[in-house]
Amino acid sequence: MARTRNRLIAGNWKMNGNDAALAEWIGAVGGAAVPDGCETVLCPPSVYLKPAAALAGGGPLRIGAQDCHAEASGAHTGDLSAEMIAEAGATHVIVGHSERRADHGESDAAVAAKASAGHRAGLTVIICIGESEAERDGGETLAVLAGQLAGSVPEGASADNTVIAYEPIWAIGTGRTPTLDEIAEAHAHIRATMAGAVGNGDDFRILYGGSMKPGNAGEILAIGDVDGGLIGGASLKAADFLAILDTCR
Ligand code: PEP
Repeated sequence: MARTRNRLIAGNWKMNGNDAALAEWIGAVGGAAVPDGCETVLCPPSVYLKPAAALAGGGPLRIGAQDCHAEASGAHTGDLSAEMIAEAGATHVIVGHSERRADHGESDAAVAAKASAGHRAGLTVIICIGESEAERDGGETLAVLAGQLAGSVPEGASADNTVIAYEPIWAIGTGRTPTLDEIAEAHAHIRATMAGAVGNGDDFRILYGGSMKPGNAGEILAIGDVDGGLIGGASLKAADFLAILDTCR
């Protein structure tokens, strides 16, 4: 069956990169042909948002931030508002990444407030959820995902302004991934939960993230409910990102 949802291949550079790497990466990826029905986003550290947007120019590559504050302005030293991110030329923002939930104690409610801020600024928000290894071993994965969706997806979320990224915490940066059946089960569950909560669950895009690389992207992206990838380590090299993108052809 033909895909009804555009795929999204998003790179999350985390706290990596520099001016030279950015120029080289966007030089390679920004001008590359994007497969039909596919979108690409690069999420560099915030200091590189504006140069990244300038380098991407009017091409198909979109730029996203890795986090935002819930408020539009105020006394929040070191933070960036969603409006500032949009003004820098970004179109997307990741919220609720497990590293931020762990390193900065972000609760589901805080993630929902950040997602609302992204919507307020007109950004497409990528909301990350995922279970820990103990939760998977304890058979709690689906319940954990449903709870995170209930707490992290704000009112006003729609398939037009929100993308869900399923990222098992134990698969991030470890080289380990769930089985294809486990990924399919989690994505189907997320879709059904979104349908129950927001309606039109079939329209929502659900990305897989966690040790996706050129060698496993094809089989993961072939799963019907997987609408793309959120890619950390393998997004740092343009050639690997392009190889993953190529599996969408
Ligand atoms: C991530 O941090 O979002 C991620 C998926 O990382 P990696 O691809 O390195 O596992």
